[in-house]
Parts: sequence; structure tokens; C-alpha cells
Amino acid sequence: NPIPFDNTYARLPERFYVKQNAAAVPSPVLLRANAELAEELGIDPAWLETPEALNVFSGNGTAEGSEPLAQAYAGHQFGGFSPQLGDGRALLLGEVIDQNGGRRDIQLKGSGRTPFSRGGDGKSALGPVLREYIVSEAMHALGVPTTRALAAVATGESVLRQEGPEPGGIFTRVASSHIRVGTFQYFYGRNDEEALRELADYTIARHYPDAADAEDPYLSLLEHVIAAQAKLIPHWMSLGFIHGVMNTDNTAISGETIDYGPCAFMDDFHPQCVFSSIDRDRRYAWGSQPDMARWNLNRFAETLLSLISGDSEAALEKAKHALDAFAGIFRKEYDNRFRAKFGLTADAPLDVVRSGFSLLTKQQIDFTLFFRHLTSGNHDALHGLFSDPAPFDAWYASWNAATKSNPDIEAMKKANPILIPRNHRIEQAIQAAYQNDFAPFHQLVDALAKPYEDRAEYAAYERAPKPDEIVHQTFC
Ligand code: AMP
Ligand code: MG
Ligand code: MG
Repeated sequence: NPIPFDNTYARLPERFYVKQNAAAVPSPVLLRANAELAEELGIDPAWLETPEALNVFSGNGTAEGSEPLAQAYAGHQFGGFSPQLGDGRALLLGEVIDQNGGRRDIQLKGSGRTPFSRGGDGKSALGPVLREYIVSEAMHALGVPTTRALAAVATGESVLRQEGPEPGGIFTRVASSHIRVGTFQYFYGRNDEEALRELADYTIARHYPDAADAEDPYLSLLEHVIAAQAKLIPHWMSLGFIHGVMNTDNTAISGETIDYGPCAFMDDFHPQCVFSSIDRDRRYAWGSQPDMARWNLNRFAETLLSLISGDSEAALEKAKHALDAFAGIFRKEYDNRFRAKFGLTADAPLDVVRSGFSLLTKQQIDFTLFFRHLTSGNHDALHGLFSDPAPFDAWYASWNAATKSNPDIEAMKKANPILIPRNHRIEQAIQAAYQNDFAPFHQLVDALAKPYEDRAEYAAYERAPKPDEIVHQTFC
């Protein structure tokens, strides 16, 4: 079999999913496939270019061993609970065991209606497909746990969205699983304790096998998931990443970043920065992400209470204790990441980080360029970012004092990317693709494959947007 499927989710009870085939599309074209990832998954990269592969990535054919299904899940969206969401435009094709022995899901996104679609068409426009390809692969190259991009296909169909018809696309996503906080909430909301236990056991076996040997396996599962999120969020923040829709259905139990909808990397630094057009209350602003992750983890803990050992009071105490650990894990990780960005040693005080943030905020300084120039030691370029130089000079003197004029440059190089997927570049790549020019998309993906390397041929991608290029809002 070209894709060595080895499925387990399809063996879970029938109420976990609905079996469903993809809809056929008229004239699919493969836009890009990820040979490196294919190899990791045990798929021959040469196969990616075959008509058979195009059939699989467009949903026009079912690969040998694939058992397509739409997963059931619920979720809190912007604070409000929906007892049933589910894969309304996605299908799990199946799982493979990768070269490291890890189980990975292969999923189509935009492959047509499922019983969970309700009013939606189950399709995707090409723009979001290209966006997810660019950003998820960039996140991987940046070192952040994330779902991956295996393929992007144009369907030849047009789909109707807010602004009128757009070309359709299908994205092939790879994830260490698609189990979300919302998957647990689905059964919790139905008081289906048997399913909850089965899902928790499956999740432990798949993601956190050592929890099985813990005194209280379900408490241990909770602790693992809390730790994974408490490490993920500071990683995002250190790169200026704003997820945009941190709903519980978009919070993966594996600790991978999932669902690149209206996400964005900020240009100018501001802790309250938001891009998503649907996030009107700034719920998921850059600086609110830790609180929102903790809120989501509280929802996860609720679903596990009946499984945690002891009477309900004892279980609640244990869960609360586990949730209290979030702050400490987060703080340590956050401080380490920002220490590295500023080149500070482990014992240096962090005042210079706080004063640096306030300086960047006040003068609306590009987050990535600031750290890029601080790292390279290009003082003119760094100085040139500030319209009011005096406060910068004062801060710079305090930074020199904090680092004893000997910043840890090696740590800074690893923490401060030269290239990030800037909104205006993504937008340009999408607009060009809509005119049938895919070169900007390919160039952008290629540029972002090595974001910490200084490569002259990609220097243009470092640039911050010009005023007329700035993207103020992102859409899903
Ligand atoms: P998301 O915005 O991807 O987190 O999706 C939230 C929910 O809306 C999920 O249940 C999706 O399956 C569903 N959904 C999003 N877009 C569509 C669509 N075009 N057709 C049907 N369901 C959709
Ligand atoms: Mg989602
Ligand atoms: Mg600026």
C-alpha cells in the first residue's frame, strides 16, 4: 500500500465518529506535497506525484487501507458551549506509524459534507488551505509542536464565502492525533462515562503511555496535558504567534498547535494584539493566551473528574492541585524563552525584559526585527527601528548592564528567528494563487523552511509590511 495505514480510531465504539467518504471534485491539481514529511510517514516521496496520490489528496479515491471517518467532538467557542461540533469539513483517512514509531493521523480538510456539517458546505476555499500549509510548516521549522502539511490541492470547484465565490482547495493534514479537549467534552456533555473512560484510556496509550503506570492514571493524564499546554503557549508567545481561535475544540490533547484559521504572527509588538475578525472582544489576544489555555484546561479537568480516583471532593481537590501547577510550569518556560531571546543568563534579573516590552509597545516596534537586530549586533538597524531614540538608548544601556555586555549570542540565535510567516506575505501568496501564480506561495514555503538561517536570497522576506501592506484582520 502506498500509505501504510494502521488504524485504531476506527476500532473505537461507533458513537466516536461517523464513517463517511469524501465528495468527488471536478478537476483536482496538486499544488504542493511534502516529500520530507512523506518519508517520515513511510510514504514513498515519488508516489506523491502520481495520479493515484492526487486521487487520495482530492478525495476522488480512497487509498487501500483507508477508513474515512468524521470524528465527533464538542467544544466551547469563545466561551459558549456547543455540545456537538465534529468534523464538518474534515475526514480522518486513517493512521500510520512514522519512522520514530509514533502514530500519526492523516486527515483531509475541505473534503465535503459530513453529518456534522449542519448548514456548512464541508468545503474549503483555497486561501485557508495555502495559509495552513505555510503557517503549519513554518511553525514546525521554528521548532513549535504542530500539525503538519502533507499536501495542498486545488479542486477546480468554486466555493461561496463571505466575499463571494473563491477557488476551492483541500488540505491534507498530519497530526499526532486529532483528539481535542472538545472530544472529551462531547462525551462529558452526554454523561457517557463509559465512552469517557474508553477515550481517556485510548489517549493515555497513544500520547502519554507512562500515565498508565501512575497511581492515578487519569490524574496523570490531566497533569501531562496541563504541562504540554503550559509549555506550548510560551513557545507561541516567544515568536509573536497569536492562535486566534483557542476554543476547546482547537486545543489538542497532544500539545500540538492545531487549526490555523485566523492566526497571525504580530508585526509591531503589543500585548493586546489581535487579528482575528471573529474575536471582537480580544479574548485570544497575544497576552491573554496563557489565561485562555488555563481556562480550556479547566474544561478538560471537568471531563475527567468522574474518572479520577476518590470521592468527588477528593477528585476535585486533586484536579485543582494539578491545575495550580500550570502557572509555575508556564512561568519557568516563559522566562527561559525570553531570557534566551534577550541573551540573558539564568540568574540575570528580568526587569530588562519587562522594560523592553514597554519600550516596544510604546514605539510600536516590529517584534521580530527588534530581536533579529539585537541578535546580529547591527546597532544602526536596531537604533533605526525607534522613532524616539532616547528611551531606546536608555533601555539599551540597561540591557548591556544586564548582560554584562556579554549576551549569550548562541542562545539568541536559536530563540530569535530571522523569518516568520508575515501576514502580508501570506496574503500576497494567496492573492497571487487566486490569479494562478503559485510562485509566491512556493517561495514563501521554501523561505520559511530555515527561519533561523541568515540567507541573502530570502532577505526580502525579513521586511516588515509597508503601511499599505499591513494586514489588520485575518479571516478563517
Ligand atoms: P473550526 O473553525 O475549523 O474550528 O471549525 C468549527 C466547527 O465548524 C467544526 O465543527 C467544523 O467542522 C465546522 N465547520 C467549519 N467550516 C465548515 C464548513 N465549511 N462546512 C461545514 N462545517 C464547517
Ligand atoms: Mg477547529
Ligand atoms: Mg512600527
